Amino acid sequence: MPNKSKDEYSALRDELEQQASVLRARLDAIHRDRTMQKGPLSADWQEQATELENEEVLAELDVSQRHTLEAIEAALMRLDAGSYGACTACGKKIATARLAALPFSTLCISCAREREQTV
Ligand SMILES: [Zn+2]
Repeated sequence: MPNKSKDEYSALRDELEQQASVLRARLDAIHRDRTMQKGPLSADWQEQATELENEEVLAELDVSQRHTLEAIEAALMRLDAGSYGACTACGKKIATARLAALPFSTLCISCAREREQTV
C-alpha cells in the first residue's frame, strides 16, 4: 500500500520525473555541442567571435539547467523520504497551488517572500 503522502503528490512526482528526463536529454545535447566546439577555432575572426559567443550561451544554459535538474532531483529525494511538501525553513506545509506551479520549491510562500527568492 502506498502511503498517503505519496498518493497526494503522485501527479507532481510524475511531472518532476518528466521534467528531469527532459533536462537530462537537453544537458546531453548541450554537452555534445560543447564537445564539438572544443576543436581549434576557425581562422576567420568573425567565425571565431560567433563560436565563442555560442560557447558562452551554451555554458550559461548548462549551468541554469543543471541547477534546475539538481532542484528537481532534490525534490524527488524529498518525495522518497516523505519530507516533500514541507517548508525547509519553518516546517509548515507548502500550499498545493505553490507546489503545482513550482514543484521543486523548498520554501512556503511566506518564507520565500522573506528570503526574496522563488525556489
Ligand atoms: Zn516556511
